[in-house]
Amino acid sequence: MAYTISDECVSCGACAEVCPVGAISEGEGKYVIDADACLDCGACAGACPVGAPQE
Ligand code: SF4
Ligand code: SF4
Repeated sequence: MAYTISDECVSCGACAEVCPVGAISEGEGKYVIDADACLDCGACAGACPVGAPQE
């Protein structure tokens, strides 16, 4: 299962900077993860200040 970003996201962009495969991009009101590209590494969850990326 890929990680997904909840509505808690405040669009800071920190997760996109640490994703090793560039799977995260800015969407409508929050950042979004490309499920087909996500490797489930968890780096985005570790970088997020509000815990928005979840498995
Ligand atoms: Fe990128 Fe890893 Fe987060 Fe998937 S879990 S979106 S590969 S940082
Ligand atoms: Fe949103 Fe968290 Fe990513 Fe920042 S690090 S853009 S708050 S999911």
